[in-house]
Amino acid sequence: MLKNWVVVPTCLPLVRRRCHACASERFRASGKFRVNANHKLIDAWLLALCTACGETAKLTVLERMTVRSVRPELLDRLHDNDPGLAAELLQDPVVQRRNRIALDWDNAWRLDTGGSDHLDREVIDVSVRFAARIPVRPVRLIAEGCGLSRAEVERLITEGRLVSAVRLSGKLSGDFTFTLKR
Ligand SMILES: [Zn+2]
Repeated sequence: MLKNWVVVPTCLPLVRRRCHACASERFRASGKFRVNANHKLIDAWLLALCTACGETAKLTVLERMTVRSVRPELLDRLHDNDPGLAAELLQDPVVQRRNRIALDWDNAWRLDTGGSDHLDREVIDVSVRFAARIPVRPVRLIAEGCGLSRAEVERLITEGRLVSAVRLSGKLSGDFTFTLKR
């Protein structure tokens, strides 16, 4: 039996960055943008608020770009505070590097298994797709999706009854498949 599971974001991840005001290390993206056009140059920031003290941080999205070099569609979305744009930009490696931020996806995703009809099968093949690059532990994912404890999943791996082309220990954020034989 072949199952398709999807790891789906449920909200924006938190932004890991040290607050200058209170030394907290988590910001929540507000979803609002600030755009500043000066002559023919444009700057744009995504605003984020410290989860502890509310201090605002500006995450650089565009830095002194010529207006003509920015896609009009992107400008519209910045001006409209497009809710999907914040999610896209937070996951953009260029934006992450430029702002020296990482993301905290705890409690910001869920696993869709498309029903529980696989739970009593002897052999299942599962294809796991990531709707966003969310780093998760496959062991945790498989435990949740198959109604097993993490210890049981670890034991199935050790016994060779849970196999995959990828390493199931550690974390993954990209699509993978596995086979489980009970
Ligand atoms: Zn703070």
